[in-house]
Amino acid sequence: MTDIEAFILNEFIPAKPLDSNLEVDFTLRKQPKSEKCGQRRCGDILKFPFAQTSSTLTAASIKHSQVLVEADKATETKRVVELTLESDDFDYEPGDTIGVLPSNAPAVVEQLLNRLGLIDQADTICQIKLALKCAKKSAKIPAHIPDSTCPREIFTHCLALNGVLQKQFLSALASYTSDAKERGFLACLSSKQATAHYNSLILEQGLRFPDILELCASCQPPLAFLVEHLPRLLPRPYSIANSPLESGTQELRIIYSVLSPKAGVTTSMLEAKCQRQEQPAKVFIYPRLTNTFRYTEKDLCSNQILIAVGTGLAPFLGFLAHKEHHQKQQPAKGQTWLYVGAKTPQAVLKRNKLLAWQQSSVLQRLRMCHSRGESPSYVQQLLEEDAEELVKLLLKPDTVLYICADGAKISTSIASGLCLCLQKVLHLDETEATRQLKELREQGKYREDLWL
Ligand SMILES: Cc1cc2nc3c(=O)[nH]c(=O)nc-3n(C[C@H](O)[C@H](O)[C@H](O)COP(=O)(O)OP(=O)(O)OC[C@H]3O[C@@H](n4cnc5c(N)ncnc54)[C@H](O)[C@@H]3O)c2cc1C
Repeated sequence: MTDIEAFILNEFIPAKPLDSNLEVDFTLRKQPKSEKCGQRRCGDILKFPFAQTSSTLTAASIKHSQVLVEADKATETKRVVELTLESDDFDYEPGDTIGVLPSNAPAVVEQLLNRLGLIDQADTICQIKLALKCAKKSAKIPAHIPDSTCPREIFTHCLALNGVLQKQFLSALASYTSDAKERGFLACLSSKQATAHYNSLILEQGLRFPDILELCASCQPPLAFLVEHLPRLLPRPYSIANSPLESGTQELRIIYSVLSPKAGVTTSMLEAKCQRQEQPAKVFIYPRLTNTFRYTEKDLCSNQILIAVGTGLAPFLGFLAHKEHHQKQQPAKGQTWLYVGAKTPQAVLKRNKLLAWQQSSVLQRLRMCHSRGESPSYVQQLLEEDAEELVKLLLKPDTVLYICADGAKISTSIASGLCLCLQKVLHLDETEATRQLKELREQGKYREDLWL
C-alpha cells in the first residue's frame, strides 16, 4: 500500500481543478424504450472510431473459443485465445479489422457504486443535464451517455475507468476529499512541483481512478463530475484472423492475448464471456474502415514478405488461409515468405498449420525464431541471415512487405533489421538505406499494422 504522506511536498501549487457543469436528475421516471444498452442507445450522433460509414453495430455470438497458447510465467508467455464469432453477413477480406465494444467488469462496477455511495440508486433511471448554474458556454452532455440511463449503465458501458488521470482531474478530486492528508496528497500530485511523483505513481506504476479511490477513502466525487470528465469507453480493434472462403462471411475469427496478472478491459470481458455457461454469449462488433493491409484475390499473382511477432501473426493466418483456398481453383503465381518471432516454439500460433502450409506450397519460405531459452534469436536476425534473397524479392515490382507486431519497440527493431539488409546487399550507408526504406513505405511496398 502506498504511503500517501510520503508524496506530499512542503510547498506546491495545485493544478487548476476541472470544473463541474453537469447534474444528475433522478426524478425522471422515464424508462428507456429500447432493449439496447449503453452506447448502443446513443443514436447516430455517436460515432464509433474508424467505423465504415454504412456499418452498424452487430451482435455476434461467440460460437467457439480455443486457447491457442497457455500462459507461462517462466518465459513471460501470454495466454492467447481464438474466438469464432457468428454474425449476420459481414463483408470482409483477410487483414481487415473489427471494433469490439468493451464493458467494465460487473464486480468492478459494483465496487465503484458501493464506494461512491450510489449502490441504492445503481439501477434508478436518471438523466444527465446541464447544471442550472452552468455558466460555461461550451459545456455539453457527453454524446456517449444515453438520454435516460442509470449509474450502473454509465459505469458499465460508457466510461473508461482505467484511463491515465490528468493533473487537473486529480486537483478536482482533491476538492471532493474531506480528509486533510488525502486532500493534500491529491492536490500535491496535481502540482508542477510534484511532477516526479506524478510520473512515478500515475505513468510508471499505473495508478488509475479505482486505485486512487482505494488510497483516498474520503474522496467522494459526484457522479455528474465523473460523467463529464472520465473519458469515453472506446471500442478496441482486432484483426480478422481467417478467410471468408473458409467458412462464409457469417463467421469470423479473432485472436487475442491476455496480459497477466491484470488483463485489460476488453480482454477480461472476452475471457468472462467465454466462460459463461449459458450459450451463446454475444459481443458487439462493427467493421472498421479498410486499408491496404489486406490480402485479396488479386494478390495471388504478387509476392508477399510477411513478418509477424507474437499475436501479430493473427492477420497473416487469414492471408494464408485465403491463398490456400484460392489455390485450390487456380495455382497462385506469387511467392509468400513468412518470418515469425515468438517467445517459445509453443507460443507460435497454429505452428502445425504453418508447417502444413509450407508443405503444400502456400508458403515458399517459413522461418521461425524464439526469444526465450538457451539461444534466443529475433526476427531481425532471420532477416539479416536471408538478406541477399530477401532484398532481391523485396525489390521486385510486385512484392509487398507486411509487418504486424504487438509493440512499438519490436516494429522499430524490425525496421532497423531491414535497414541493415539494404545496407549489406546494396552497399549503402545507413542514411541512404533509411531513405530507401522510407521510399518503400511511400510506394506502399512496406505496410505495417500498428497495434498501439
Ligand atoms: C489495428 C489494430 C489491430 C489490433 N488487433 C489485435 C489482435 O488481433 N489481437 C490482439 O490481441 N490485439 C489487437 N490489437 C490490440 C487491441 O485493440 C487491444 O489494445 C488489446 O487487446 C488490449 O485491450 P484491452 O481493452 O483488454 O486492454 P486495456 O484495458 O486497453 O489495457 C490497458 C493497458 O494494458 C496493456 N495491455 C492490455 N492487454 C495487453 C496485452 N494483451 N498485451 C500487452 N499489453 C496489454 C496495454 O498497455 C494497455 O494500454 C489491435 C490494435 C490495433 C490498433
